[in-house]
Amino acid sequence: MSFDLQQSSQQKELSALYQEVILDHSKHPRHKHKMTSCQFCQEGKNPLCGDQITVFCSLDANRLLTVSFEGSGCSISQASASMMCEALQGKTVHEVKPMLKSAEDIYSGRAQLDDADLENDLEALSGVGKFPVRIKCAALPWKTFEILFQEHFDAQGNPKNPCHFSTCPPPASKKLKVVTTE
Ligand code: ZN
Repeated sequence: MSFDLQQSSQQKELSALYQEVILDHSKHPRHKHKMTSCQFCQEGKNPLCGDQITVFCSLDANRLLTVSFEGSGCSISQASASMMCEALQGKTVHEVKPMLKSAEDIYSGRAQLDDADLENDLEALSGVGKFPVRIKCAALPWKTFEILFQEHFDAQGNPKNPCHFSTCPPPASKKLKVVTTE
């Protein structure tokens, strides 16, 4: 019995920590800015909650990713976007797919995480898995980036069709594929 009590207080501490991390990212989002010379961008919307995002992406001279976002919405969607940009920053295109997969496992609550500590901020999204409606909020930036990646990189991870818009996001007249998480 005492063991159970201890467990639950530990879990309470952990979920308080998760909330703190999510709040920190939503209040002080990392990499939240328009990328004026982006090579690729993609809009995404979650109509269920009203979250919307534009993800910007470029490859530097060493073909490492630079990722930023703009958008508005609930604190989970904003925190998730901030965490995603942080996670993808400086990664190679070959690292993208496994990262998208492991992030999905975390925010959908499928990942088996070590309860003892928070290895990286992303793990704070694991608490979202308990609330199916909020999974869509957490998923929005990742699903948006996934579409960007599918649209603009071939199977070998080579970039194709850079958007070359002088201003991003592109004007409404340029049809943008919009992803929804419905
Ligand atoms: Zn939301």
